[in-house]
Amino acid sequence: MSLKDDFPILSREVNGHPLIYLDNAATTQKPQVVIDAISQYYSNSNANVHRAVHTLAGEATEGYENCRRWIKSWFNAEKAILTSGTTEAINLVAYGWGRANLQPGDVIVLTEMEHHSDIVPWQILSEERGIEIRYVPVLDDFTLDMDAYAVSLENAKLVCVVHTSNVLGVRNSVDELISLAHKAGAKILIDAAQAVPHDKIDFELFNADFMAFSAHKMCGPTGIGALLVKSDAFEQMQPFMGGGDMIESVTTSGSTYQTNEHKFEAGTPKIAEAVGWSAAFEWMSAIDLPAHHERLLNIAKWTADQLREIGCTVYGRHQSGDAAVVSFLHPTIHSEDFARFLDAKGFAVRTGHHCAQPLLNRLGITGTIRASFYLYNTQDEAEKFISTVRYIVGKFA
Ligand code: PMP
Repeated sequence: MSLKDDFPILSREVNGHPLIYLDNAATTQKPQVVIDAISQYYSNSNANVHRAVHTLAGEATEGYENCRRWIKSWFNAEKAILTSGTTEAINLVAYGWGRANLQPGDVIVLTEMEHHSDIVPWQILSEERGIEIRYVPVLDDFTLDMDAYAVSLENAKLVCVVHTSNVLGVRNSVDELISLAHKAGAKILIDAAQAVPHDKIDFELFNADFMAFSAHKMCGPTGIGALLVKSDAFEQMQPFMGGGDMIESVTTSGSTYQTNEHKFEAGTPKIAEAVGWSAAFEWMSAIDLPAHHERLLNIAKWTADQLREIGCTVYGRHQSGDAAVVSFLHPTIHSEDFARFLDAKGFAVRTGHHCAQPLLNRLGITGTIRASFYLYNTQDEAEKFISTVRYIVGKFA
């Protein structure tokens, strides 16, 4: 048995070839246990949560809250707000914390490496509130300019930074980013969407104020994610969405709110998704993540070296701690054409700007081809990938 056998989709064919799925930075595949848990929930326990006394409602509530317990214990966090994903988690910080705590003229520090989901909410808030946004530049070695970061922290109230780049795979110096932000009196939000699939982060030790991530990048379902929040920051947050489930009482003259995470989870939540995510956590708890991370990084490094030998430009460095993401361009073959030829041979890769246009502008390009590896990928698949790349390049030569 290999890990791959746990994932039904990985035994399918695409265009007459066995699927080799290398688009894991976009979303990972789901093991059968996750699919079964969701199906079992809808077949047996479907009901709304927190509302009724009947048995099904109890099972649904237990399924939903069990996911929160998994998140809290996996990440050692006191507060875990369930969201629809990283994007909603970051928007929750912008609207729930930012609106309540930022004044005109206040400064937020972002970086040129951010995903659009960690830029656009701040731009919207900045227009609404007259907040200044500063961007930390990316250097030629694909790392953040830490000198510029130190300078940008003057009068900053909040830093929002990506832990691991979805384009480059580069892991930023997060410990240093966090401690410098705190020394400057700023809170810090970490976009950990690409970090949590590879690294079991202890949120208490990590010491960031907010951390956002999505289930679907760590073998869980789409449509669910979480925001971890330190207790003092949690107390400073105001609801972003109003509705059922988040209130304590409502009268025609006003409402009072729940004091726990439910305050930020208005409406019917993502119940089936939460059940599926719990199954993913359970499945992942039998996996040696650090060993796989090292194995996958070696595969990515080997792939990057081969691509350079073929004449491609690789955007990334594949050093210890980085994610197994290989972004590259061929000097003459257009990336979309390249990806279509790869698809014709059964390979799934991503092309385009990867929702990180400021980073691509900085790199002077409009897109890359991105191959990203996860737990079920093997060196053998990387070798097949490279021989197919060689075949495609040979056809165009
Ligand atoms: N940040 C990063 C670094 C990401 O890679 C992604 C997903 N591509 C997101 C944020 C947004 O995640 P989601 O679409 O699941 O909300």
